Amino acid sequence: MELSEFLEWVACPRCESRPPLVAREDWLICTQCGFGYRIESDIPNLLVDEAVPPDQLPAHLKS
Ligand SMILES: [Zn+2]
Repeated sequence: MELSEFLEWVACPRCESRPPLVAREDWLICTQCGFGYRIESDIPNLLVDEAVPPDQLPAHLKS
């Protein structure tokens, strides 16, 4: 499955409104809470416990 297809149905597991995620390099970033989910070996890690807060994401990923 292409990442773009995957992103059509994946949503942030932290947010009940299921906002979309955007891909930035090796990360998926939630458009609502801003938490990041690392993509490891092409597999996004969507575990809530391993989500990275916005202030701990690499600075160049923030828009
Ligand atoms: Zn979120």
